[in-house]
Amino acid sequence: MAYSKENYDRVKQEIAGRRQRAFAEYEMRAAETASTLPEVYELNRKIAMTGPKILDAAMEHRLDDDALESIKKENTALREKLRRVLEKNGYPADYLEVKYTCEKCGDTGYVGIDMCSCMKEALTRAEFQSSGLSRLAETQSFETFDLSFYTGRDLDLMKINLERLREFTDNFSEETSDSFILLGATGLGKTHLSTSVAARVIERGYSVIYESAQDVISTFEQIRFGRDYTSGRDKEYQDCDLLIIDDLGVEVSNQFTVSCIYNVINSRLVRGKPTIINTNLSQGEMRQRYADRITSRIFGEFRPLLFTGLDVRQQKIGRAMK
Ligand SMILES: [Zn+2]
Repeated sequence: MAYSKENYDRVKQEIAGRRQRAFAEYEMRAAETASTLPEVYELNRKIAMTGPKILDAAMEHRLDDDALESIKKENTALREKLRRVLEKNGYPADYLEVKYTCEKCGDTGYVGIDMCSCMKEALTRAEFQSSGLSRLAETQSFETFDLSFYTGRDLDLMKINLERLREFTDNFSEETSDSFILLGATGLGKTHLSTSVAARVIERGYSVIYESAQDVISTFEQIRFGRDYTSGRDKEYQDCDLLIIDDLGVEVSNQFTVSCIYNVINSRLVRGKPTIINTNLSQGEMRQRYADRITSRIFGEFRPLLFTGLDVRQQKIGRAMK
């Protein structure tokens, strides 16, 4: 799943809305102070003349470095004076500055040509919500994980899995956290626990991509065949703080898909960024299916967590029928 056009448009609009609100609120404050404080009104008027002054000087070919410098100085002095006057009258000094939600990009979503982190986060959140994962996360959290479906050695393993992944989530760092591979048959809680991790790490403000291996490959196929609506999604796989690849081993396997997966995993390992992989395949099946360079990379660098036991979904059906 790439960034959908709907989500992109919606997030752009949301950020543009923040900018409009920031200006509208500023204008309210400007009008309020101008009506009661003539000195503020006068200073604001002078500050507003800075732009036209620069333009005039440019038109008349008088705009050399010295001229520009002196206009800027004058502007800084006026702003300083405005701050003092506001304070003197019981307002905060920055009362007449536009207050953006994100100071980095001034609520435009971009810093130069790069997408700002605020926009990336909003997109990740939008994708998370539209992916259905957020609804899933309401019922599938660490708190709702039910250990009563496991017994004996399975239970011991599951307690370890739960503890490791909780620890991972609580101490998450995009630079120092380990990578994990969750191994085991379907219905043993891999998706439940990785959904819990994703939701919690997103809540903590990190960028997380949670996708099936098939969706990751679809993104690369779109790019390969020139149908790229992904707005750099392939790069996001490498850049996001946490990447969770669900269901590795279910996707169609060929040279192209294998190298896509390898490149994503490898570039994250090189940069020390954590990744979580879920797979139903055993180590042996992984080796058969993927080139040696992938499996040795994964088993050399990822911490394995084993999921064993009886299919929880089937147990639930069994319990319900009793
Ligand atoms: Zn921003």
